[in-house]
Amino acid sequence: MDDGLRIPLAVLRRRADPRLVRRTVELDDLGVGEVRVVDGRVDVDIEAEARGPDVVVTGSVGAAWVGECRRCLDEVGGRLDLRVHEVLSAGSGSPSSTGSGDEGSVGDSGDAYPLGGDEADVEPIVRDAVLLAIPLSPLCSEDCAGPDPERFPAAAPGIGEAEGDDLDAAPVADPRWAALDALRAPGDAGS
Ligand SMILES: [Zn+2]
Repeated sequence: MDDGLRIPLAVLRRRADPRLVRRTVELDDLGVGEVRVVDGRVDVDIEAEARGPDVVVTGSVGAAWVGECRRCLDEVGGRLDLRVHEVLSAGSGSPSSTGSGDEGSVGDSGDAYPLGGDEADVEPIVRDAVLLAIPLSPLCSEDCAGPDPERFPAAAPGIGEAEGDDLDAAPVADPRWAALDALRAPGDAGS
């Protein structure tokens, strides 16, 4: 999505020094459930270095997130500051690569990101780092008591507090008094 996270391999291999990528990028769909990275903005501060056929990416990734407290549903947010250290490898992810991967159980793709074409694409590394660290079910505080019954009444939405007492008084049709009412009504009418 963001070209700023694609580094031409020719540049990496030509230089001896690591290539610095220090910028804020905006990535789409950066969230899990109700928890999202604010505006998809991620602060990237990494260096990429060619090492043989691979590219090693080291640095930090930061992002602010917002979501809902899993108990009280209030908005809750925080910030991630993550270290990344990953390898992009031309040998990973492509089954046709020279038989170095006979021991398939080593999990090629799990250890390294694929390196294809003529660019090193750092975006998957940034994206994974953030998605793995983002809290799945955040709490506004460790001792959040859950919904506040006075602010979020469980029933009768839209009824103001002032009418609360009337509500309690309204259901006078208590069945226990129904018999008395029946006795009283004819008496009132008759006397
Ligand atoms: Zn809460």
